[in-house]
Amino acid sequence: MRNEPLQFSNLNRQVRIKKSANTHYDLIVIGGGITGAGILLDAALRGMKAILIEKSDFASGTSSKSTKLIHGGLRYLKQMEFGLVRETGLERAVAHRNICHLVHPENMLLPIVENGTFSQFTAGLAIGVYDRLAKVERGQRRKKLSKQQVLNKEPLLEESKLKSGIIYSEYRTDDARLTMELIKSARRSGAEAFNYLEVNDFSYTGKNVSGIICEDKVTNEEVHINATHIVSSAGPWVDILRKKDNPKTETNLHLSKGVHIVFDKKDFNIQNSIYFDAFDGRMIFAIPRSGVVYVGTTDTSFDPGTDQLNCTKDDAAYLLNAVNTMFNIQLNIKDIKSTWSGLRPLIRQKGKGPTELSRKDEIFISDSGLISIAGGKLTGFRKMAKRVVDMVAEKLEQDFPPCKTKDYKIHQQPFSDYAEYLHVVEQLCKSYKDYYNQDIADLISNFGKDGIDILSETKDKGITLIESQLNYALQYESVYHPLDFLDRRTGWLFFNINKVKEHKEFITKRISNAFDFSSDWETQMLKESTNRYNSNSLKEIKEII
Ligand code: FAD
Repeated sequence: MRNEPLQFSNLNRQVRIKKSANTHYDLIVIGGGITGAGILLDAALRGMKAILIEKSDFASGTSSKSTKLIHGGLRYLKQMEFGLVRETGLERAVAHRNICHLVHPENMLLPIVENGTFSQFTAGLAIGVYDRLAKVERGQRRKKLSKQQVLNKEPLLEESKLKSGIIYSEYRTDDARLTMELIKSARRSGAEAFNYLEVNDFSYTGKNVSGIICEDKVTNEEVHINATHIVSSAGPWVDILRKKDNPKTETNLHLSKGVHIVFDKKDFNIQNSIYFDAFDGRMIFAIPRSGVVYVGTTDTSFDPGTDQLNCTKDDAAYLLNAVNTMFNIQLNIKDIKSTWSGLRPLIRQKGKGPTELSRKDEIFISDSGLISIAGGKLTGFRKMAKRVVDMVAEKLEQDFPPCKTKDYKIHQQPFSDYAEYLHVVEQLCKSYKDYYNQDIADLISNFGKDGIDILSETKDKGITLIESQLNYALQYESVYHPLDFLDRRTGWLFFNINKVKEHKEFITKRISNAFDFSSDWETQMLKESTNRYNSNSLKEIKEII
């Protein structure tokens, strides 16, 4: 690829791991979700020698399971969380400016209904505050709509309860792709990162934590890596690592499960992203994207000892009920095309349930010096990273420059602005008539200008667009398991599940050939992809009912 010169491949993994085991780092970051990726980039840009270690695939934890909004969180205003809303609200524009092909402006429609969370007055007030806290430009601020104007925009809304509505500005992203682009950018600035390397223990110099002991999930070998400072950004697993460092540590996290369900747009045909009242006083998003609409989320306490991290029949029923109450439609479980479920690593507060818990992040420092960060939002990743790296820089007592991420473009070949991005997509759709416009738009939204090279490769080598994307992901995005590609590099498992059904055999075979894996590996991987396809599409539940 012309534009992405730096390989980031598991094909040369062993050489890189050996090199890392012989390097002394300033900073080890545990956890390759958005929080860890943000920290790695910030540290690398300041000139720290930094490495990130992820036990599974990058973004395979919560950071591929969010609602995929870059937002301030309107509902947190009701909880008087002005600081959080201000910080994340302001970060929205920063994220859009720095990686506009992945952070798209998205108008959000808030229908005002009888006995809903917001009246026209409180909604106007809240969104007015929201726009001001986030310094939204005048032209993009909230617009009030009459009942008829709302219905003209969304005829599917249930008319009897509707009173009026408001349109306001948000941004939509792909959480897993954003995580990957942060890690790739960090590597271009000198950092290293590995997926499928699990931290099982720590090593110490005197009383200070000074290294990690990992298991390479690819070779089953033990790997030791040393650093002056270690940060754990292990999301829902933060407490587990803190206990490994000190078994007497109290747990601080309250895990809350959030489920999304996906419909074909032809079955749930809405044009706008809508933030609407569920029947129980919570609020839910319905977001059109590519050819689908996804709906979420639930917010229920999760016990890792007993609960299943997937969409249960009850989760699906709750979300279906919410949609069928607010819209003039009767969707059922058989209409659900795909699902995803994630865990919010929230900071525990006595007497509060998951919906009431703050989404603020918190940093814990153990007696050994292990720094852990948990909580927070996808949207606030840059500020969270800055706080952690400021702390590490101070401890390192070297002259590192201040944080550079505010104006840093997160791509090798960034678009100058959103207008350029839209123009490029339009031109490519005209030039590549053999492909669906949606496939081209998704490609450029996922890979930025590298998508142009991916497209050219299909012509140059006479291969399919799927093969060309897979070649790229193998070479520059550390794909190892077919699900890395189907879930986190392309999002097809959520947004285009038919592609998964059709192409999972080809993708498994192609990866197996690239690594020269055995046929046993191939059978096992295909089984895992098929199981995931079945559970995402709720095949088992649909068969029971
Ligand atoms: P994770 O993404 O979970 O990353 C932690 C990583 O650590 C994992 O990949 C894990 O495999 C790895 N790890 C754990 N243990 C080890 C080990 N021993 N060795 C190596 N690696 C390890 N925020 C928003 O701003 N907008 C939204 O729209 C939004 N929607 C949400 C919807 C839901 C349903 C949920 C659950 C959250 C949502 N959030 C949203 C919040 C946001 O998704 C999370 O705050 C964020 O993704 C957390 O990222 P993280 O990196 O801290 O954790």
